[in-house]
Amino acid sequence: MQIKDQRYVIQGVDLVDLTKEHGTPLYVYDASKIARQVEVMKNAFAGQEMKIKYAAKALTNISILKLMRSLGVGLDVVSRQELELAFKAGYASTDIQFTPNGVDFEEIKWAAGQGVQVTLDNISMLEKFGQCYGGEKPCCIRFNPHIMAGGHLKISTGHIDSKFGISILQLSEIKEVVNKFGLQVNGLHIHTGSDILDTEVFLRGASILYGIAESFPDLEYIDFGSGFKVSYQEGDPATDIVDLGENLKVDFKAFCQQYGRPLEIWFEPGKFLVSEAGTLLVNSNVVKTTPATVFVGVDSGMNHLIRPMMYDSHHEMVNISNLNGHTRVYAVVGYICETDTLGWNVTLNEVTEGDVIAIKNTGAYGFSMSSNYNSRLRPAEVLILDGKAHLIRRRELLADLIATQISIDI
Ligand SMILES: *Cc1c(COP(=O)(O)O)cnc(C)c1O
Repeated sequence: MQIKDQRYVIQGVDLVDLTKEHGTPLYVYDASKIARQVEVMKNAFAGQEMKIKYAAKALTNISILKLMRSLGVGLDVVSRQELELAFKAGYASTDIQFTPNGVDFEEIKWAAGQGVQVTLDNISMLEKFGQCYGGEKPCCIRFNPHIMAGGHLKISTGHIDSKFGISILQLSEIKEVVNKFGLQVNGLHIHTGSDILDTEVFLRGASILYGIAESFPDLEYIDFGSGFKVSYQEGDPATDIVDLGENLKVDFKAFCQQYGRPLEIWFEPGKFLVSEAGTLLVNSNVVKTTPATVFVGVDSGMNHLIRPMMYDSHHEMVNISNLNGHTRVYAVVGYICETDTLGWNVTLNEVTEGDVIAIKNTGAYGFSMSSNYNSRLRPAEVLILDGKAHLIRRRELLADLIATQISIDI
């Protein structure tokens, strides 16, 4: 995103003009930023077999999935519905892995039946997988290494109380099940949480898996999950992927030597690939001055962007209708009847009712976590690709909202 001749543009497309055409609230995604992030990862792991499986749940629009496919990126899906979307986007089953948590065995069986690589994260499902397939279909096991990692307890998944993965303390039980059914375990997986800053945490997780790996002779890959932290504002720390690449490549090579053959590294980034690419454009409905604060009430809220309330995420904002005005400090709040503060102490060029505010870094878990709370309609989505804006989801209509409701005679 750039400011050019006092216009706020992405690949030459003026964002204020976009809101005139498509209205607000509007999610806008910059395809070039997604492509850049993919490149950054590929470069960081150059010389090592590495596969990227985009965590589709971060941003699931079918056109985004198609973009990922065009960039040579595989998919990590967590539900049957995500898997069906992946097929609709043209993905082959061999480029998809299914990493569910707490789903019914029927769903796992359906995915495995489609030829998708399945990751199992509890012993009961491992048993059922064994009873059903024996060693006929490979599977990956998700371990919980009990590392406390990640920026926020709600997004940290590797600690001892976490529902994710099978505890490394249960390794002998796992081995029993594997032996009983002759299971072909071709991958090991850990995903310790989101917003991990330290290379060191990844390396620690990795070294735990290296230790476990010798118990599984059929491995083809090790999946280190994701959790890469992205920076939300200028100067904010982010995971240093280049540093991670350098260190992990060295450790992994030594591990492979010990294991006896070269394995692949897999990652499942969500946020890292799409967060920065996304901007939520909202309209300033009301500027309200109270004795303590100046509020800007916008035509969106926790129904379209829940991360600030759920995870205390910080999002930089820009008043793109007034790029030169005096700056003031505001609280930017939503229009939902609930406290839905999108940002406190936000410095913006002076806001007049009707101005468009750009909320940055909203590509990941923005639209995909949106709801119809307060019976509000969901925003449209636009993808800017090769300098051209494409509408990739129309704005919802009241008809969409009532389509599934049944009005009985009362
Ligand atoms: C959510 C999730 C990811 C992606 O996490 P990010 O923090 O968005 O990169 C990767 N793997 C699994 C198993 C997940 O559940």
